[in-house]
Amino acid sequence: MTGKGTEAIKIEEYFITEEPYYMPVSNEIEVFEAAFKNKLPVMLKGPTGCGKTRFMQYMAWKLKRPLITVSCHDDLTSSDLVGRYLVKGGETIWIDGPLTKAVKVGAICYLDEIVEARKDTTVVIHPLTDDRRVLPIEKRGEILKAPDEFLLSISYNPGYQSVLKDLKHSTRQRFISLNFEYPPRELEIEIVMKESGINKETAGYLVTLAEKIRNLKDKGLDEGTGTRALIYAGTLIQSGISEQQAAEVAMANPITDDSDMLRAIKELITTVF
Ligand code: ADP
Repeated sequence: MTGKGTEAIKIEEYFITEEPYYMPVSNEIEVFEAAFKNKLPVMLKGPTGCGKTRFMQYMAWKLKRPLITVSCHDDLTSSDLVGRYLVKGGETIWIDGPLTKAVKVGAICYLDEIVEARKDTTVVIHPLTDDRRVLPIEKRGEILKAPDEFLLSISYNPGYQSVLKDLKHSTRQRFISLNFEYPPRELEIEIVMKESGINKETAGYLVTLAEKIRNLKDKGLDEGTGTRALIYAGTLIQSGISEQQAAEVAMANPITDDSDMLRAIKELITTVF
């Protein structure tokens, strides 16, 4: 795995040793396990803050595989994923990128918000998603074959869709897709209670408020409130912040800059609390 002029891979840090708290919404755990067994790449599709990352952490723990996560952004290139040569102490060494590391050690590689990355990244992803399961490392003239335990997983938020930021069909059809939505009411109440420590009644109010805000989606609101925002609100309430203010700063202010929409959400907050 290591070799002259290459950096050693410290894989231990990528293992998740404690069971992450994850409440299944449907049979997504079984489907993911079957995909892993059959070496099928997986796409997690859904709005922000609805449990995709937590699910990946849970699955990596359950399957006992290291998890290498990459948060994709505008400037992310295929070299960032695959690796590059660097001069270190007068010597030129090769540094593996996260995707190369994952292929070498048979990890689960999770590319979060893949559409954000530069288009050239698809060139390195595609050969990993079909029967070949290989990673071409152009700069080294090498082709790495992925071991059976390697799994490629991506997340995609269709809410941000625009012509520029859409996931191409030639890419998306290489994955099976697990569609994530906000958890059903009772489950979301339980998650908010567990993660923030607030009581059931207050968690119920927060979920009611979230449902009302989510109804405003496509009526001027681009994206509904994710579970994470409810957990933030609950956490602030636990620290002594009033329910109304907590809801305002965690659930209203972050999701819109439109003053009319903000006023409408604040009215909803007053109605609920
Ligand atoms: P995403 O990756 O979809 O943006 P996350 O996985 O980070 O969202 O979820 C946000 C937070 O919501 C998590 O940190 C977790 O506390 C909570 N959460 C959402 N769904 C679940 C779930 N099904 N089980 C447990 N926690 C959840």
